[in-house]
Amino acid sequence: MTRKIAIIGAGLAGLTLAHRLRGSAEIAVFDKSWRPGGRLSTRQKAGFQFDHGAQYFTIRSDEFRDFLQPALTEGAVRPWDARVVTLEAGQHPVEANRDEPIYVGAPSMNTLPAFLAKEISVSCEIEIDDCRREPEGWLLSDRAGITHGPFDWVVSTAPAPQSRLLLGEDFAAKAGFDAVRMRGCFSLMLGFESSLGIAWQGAFVKNSPIGWLALDSSKPGRDNATSLLVQAAGAWADEHLEDTPEQIESHLIEELRTLVGIDGGTARHHALHRWRYAGTAEPAGENFLIDQENQLAACGDWCIKGRVEAAFVSASKLGQLLLDRL
Ligand SMILES: Cc1cc2nc3c(=O)[nH]c(=O)nc-3n(C[C@H](O)[C@H](O)[C@H](O)COP(=O)(O)OP(=O)(O)OC[C@H]3O[C@@H](n4cnc5c(N)ncnc54)[C@H](O)[C@@H]3O)c2cc1C
Repeated sequence: MTRKIAIIGAGLAGLTLAHRLRGSAEIAVFDKSWRPGGRLSTRQKAGFQFDHGAQYFTIRSDEFRDFLQPALTEGAVRPWDARVVTLEAGQHPVEANRDEPIYVGAPSMNTLPAFLAKEISVSCEIEIDDCRREPEGWLLSDRAGITHGPFDWVVSTAPAPQSRLLLGEDFAAKAGFDAVRMRGCFSLMLGFESSLGIAWQGAFVKNSPIGWLALDSSKPGRDNATSLLVQAAGAWADEHLEDTPEQIESHLIEELRTLVGIDGGTARHHALHRWRYAGTAEPAGENFLIDQENQLAACGDWCIKGRVEAAFVSASKLGQLLLDRL
């Protein structure tokens, strides 16, 4: 009998798991957003384009390379040959050590999840808010009051605090959430009329409310005007998560001016995105969380490390285990 598996979330973890299980189970993927990708996200506005979630990623393992090979072959993932420096106020830029290639989706970060979702049916704009066990299996309810299922297994790939709520008290592995501490972030998107005259494409920033700067228009396949992404440092973002967007924006713009002399106030386009769960300060320390008796599981970057490749590893390992059980 074909087993039915519900996957909550169509970020890289959810899409990886769906790829691993398709052909061996009946898969239903739900995402609350209007398109797949989660934190592999891109925003286009007024001729500018920003990757306002993940900035780039590594491909360290052969398994991840094999998984991405079709996207690499088609050019949906390409190396970003960026000059990356480390910046600190009052200091000269220092070359950042780059001992491995870094990659991005092309022509936008969101191209990668769009590519992966081509062969997977993802039900978007469905926010699951409850899972309950009935004799016929797991039933999921969404915010609109619609019930989905029954399913034999439910896997949540939402960030840890959201997965904890979704899987609830029945989830025997729930103690695994206790160790996890996720970090917030702000992404300030600035679009300029002309080039900025900077000699780097990416910059780690030390001792500042800014943690990272990227000239997004320098990434491969982009054909858009000067787009600068200013990302807040994780600890600073956590402290200021409830500040108003105006407060955050003016603070980051002032820091940008002090740091590199760029006047963000002259940007033709500016927008701010707040991420409540962006990175992982403390991971679960396990590849995934699973309750085999109740047939519930959770996976995602937060299990291992707040990185794209970690989301892949977590989902891939869970996929292997589930394949053995089907
Ligand atoms: C600002 C920022 C910068 C980053 N920079 C980098 C970087 O440079 N390099 C790097 O490797 N990583 C970076 N990351 C981290 C990287 O984006 C993540 O590690 C990775 O994308 C996580 O994938 P995931 O599938 O585990 O989670 P997500 O991408 O968060 O996917 C979870 C999905 O679940 C959905 N969801 C949640 N709740 C529900 C619900 N109730 N019902 C239905 N759907 C739901 C969400 O909409 C989302 O699509 C960055 C992240 C951010 C935010």
